[in-house]
Amino acid sequence: MVIRKSRSEIERMRRSGLIVAETLRDLRRMVEPGITTRDLDAYAEKKIRSAGAYPTFKGYRGFPASICASINDEVVHGIPSERKLREGDIIKLDCGATLEGYVGDAAISVGVGEISPELERLMQITRESLLQAVEKMVPGNRLYDVSYAVQEYVEGRGYAVVREFCGHGIGQRMHEDPQVPNYGRPGTGPRLKEGWVLAVEPMVNAGTHEVDVLADGWTVKTRDGKASSHFEHTIAVTEDGPQVLTALEDGTLHL
Ligand code: MG
Ligand code: MG
Repeated sequence: MVIRKSRSEIERMRRSGLIVAETLRDLRRMVEPGITTRDLDAYAEKKIRSAGAYPTFKGYRGFPASICASINDEVVHGIPSERKLREGDIIKLDCGATLEGYVGDAAISVGVGEISPELERLMQITRESLLQAVEKMVPGNRLYDVSYAVQEYVEGRGYAVVREFCGHGIGQRMHEDPQVPNYGRPGTGPRLKEGWVLAVEPMVNAGTHEVDVLADGWTVKTRDGKASSHFEHTIAVTEDGPQVLTALEDGTLHL
């Protein structure tokens, strides 16, 4: 069952979303060769807590950190460690914050130093597919119109969407109904209603869509070892159109 949010709940989710946005903005600036993903995690935890919020990921089903940090062929759910970023890497940073009981969830991909044009394009296509999906988030559209917007954009350009992991409803819990796959048949699925809040998160692979979970129980990797990109926003369906709750204060999407 999808839990619809009132206007005041959406306002509260905007506040947690803003903390996530500002954390990711800062992390993007910190990304450079030599920094460890544990450094980024420590910063994020401090930033989120100093805003009076809680890092939602910490302890979630036993996850040991405040952000997910996934490098190159790691798709999502990478655990921060002493691993140093290297020139030419692409890192996916995923972050959640809970403020006054409401969760915000967003992710960005960032190039480390100078990256290849191929990786730039992979990120650009992922970013753009998320924007295409956001546009579909108006009352009356169907859920899989949103999914298909991602799939069509990505596959039409020769890339693959990950199928084993998907976006989700979000509110007082990080993962609520419905699941939001990055593929689907347009014109099908439940109709979007005012007050729905969804975390939409295209995971786009340069090669095969197939992925594996590593022995650590968390890190998801592409099966063929090719690169992957991930962007995510928390978005409310309102009568005035989609409202991105994890945008920066001035509305920038920090993609
Ligand atoms: Mg996330
Ligand atoms: Mg999410």
